[in-house]
Amino acid sequence: MQYVSTRGKAPVLNFEDAMLTGLARDGGLYVPAETPQFSPDDIAAMAGKSYADIAFRVMKPLVGDVFTDEEFTGIIERAYGDFGHEACAPMVQLAPNHFLLELFHGPTLAFKDFAMQLVGQLFQFSLTRRGERVTIVGATSGDTGSAAIEAFKGLDAVDLFIMYPHGRVSDVQRRQMTTPTESNVHALAVDGDFDDCQARLKDMFNDHDFRDGVRLAGVNSLNWGRVLAQIVYYFAAATALGAPHRKVSFTVPTGNFGDIFAGYMAKKMGLQIDRLVIATNQNDILHRAIDTGTYAATGVKPSISPSMDIQVSSNFERVLFDAYGRDGNAVEVGMEEFKNTGSFEISQGAISMLRDTFQSGRASEEETSATIKDMLARTGEVLCPHSAVGVKVAQEYLGEEPMITLATAHPAKFPDAVQAACGVHPDLPARMGDLFDREECFTQVPNDLDALKTLIKGRIS
Ligand SMILES: *Cc1c(COP(=O)(O)O)cnc(C)c1O
Repeated sequence: MQYVSTRGKAPVLNFEDAMLTGLARDGGLYVPAETPQFSPDDIAAMAGKSYADIAFRVMKPLVGDVFTDEEFTGIIERAYGDFGHEACAPMVQLAPNHFLLELFHGPTLAFKDFAMQLVGQLFQFSLTRRGERVTIVGATSGDTGSAAIEAFKGLDAVDLFIMYPHGRVSDVQRRQMTTPTESNVHALAVDGDFDDCQARLKDMFNDHDFRDGVRLAGVNSLNWGRVLAQIVYYFAAATALGAPHRKVSFTVPTGNFGDIFAGYMAKKMGLQIDRLVIATNQNDILHRAIDTGTYAATGVKPSISPSMDIQVSSNFERVLFDAYGRDGNAVEVGMEEFKNTGSFEISQGAISMLRDTFQSGRASEEETSATIKDMLARTGEVLCPHSAVGVKVAQEYLGEEPMITLATAHPAKFPDAVQAACGVHPDLPARMGDLFDREECFTQVPNDLDALKTLIKGRIS
């Protein structure tokens, strides 16, 4: 399988190089050159299989022949062996035709584990056989950093540094980053906010001497490997509820558009998906774009679903590429205009494709809290605020076919918002019960490029 950039000017790469490269050199994002097709028989054969087995079948054609079947099976088994639920992505029922897909049974209790655990094993395998070693630096507002630390800890082909804003992540998120003891993972508490962390990360990538010297790599949400992993649970959930013989719909709480893009890929690959619903919180750039045809950034308004508090939905470019008939030039022109002016008009043809493909809705802060309270009363389920945004929007689109809403985090990751909404303090699962007893280890660093560079160079030598 070959991978092409959404801006059409970067080299065409195989899966392994697209994954190790991350962002394309022309500023675009890598997408598969062709879409593998699954027949109804292929899909029927997934019903009742293990998560690892479905993962192999779904991802294999997208990965191509860069690994043997045996190697790829091993990678998948190592990635998903540490989940707290045998089904990896189980479902519970909320209403006669509404199901919740629990994506929070991984080691850090959020769906980012599905992608990060796989990417960790893929990096380790590919780098080891090339005899290479890289330094991964990331910036996080919480969930991504903890998922990365859990995924990369103890892997000897990688040193991982995660910058987070000191004093501005939740206690659970911070402890998940600061309590692993493996010597290749480093939690850096930066004196600044999340934007400062991201700006320093960008500075490091733009400092070519440093970048080459430490062999800097990234695993942010633009990395194709992360999208790849997320396609799997759409197949697992749909076949569990009757695909290919009956269609299902999905509602996806969305920030960077990564998770819902994976659902779009599953549909393109032949999965029987009826509706794909985009659910945003009050940071509703995507909902407005589908509604009005103008993709326009406004400032971020902090919400109780912080992992969806984004200014720009960076993975949206991947679907725009298809909406513009895979015309990389048109995508580049639109994205440049957006970068320079903060907004651009989506063309008539592209917006009609997007409206045919997606529906969308938003949940206000009050609606999100009310949904947590209401679901507890009606079903006994305690939702995290991100999942509640999804459930609220899904309720507007319930129909004949089963609706599956993605639950993106465990409520115990956001205990204060949950308790304020419904009066219940959600407990950590038993296997993580000692999180608050473990010793924390982190390094406080000033918001300064030179200080960060010196620290990183010193730690990896
Ligand atoms: C990252 C995240 C999201 C948003 O996912 P995208 O792929 O960025 O759309 C939603 N909920 C939680 C809990 C997250 O951590």
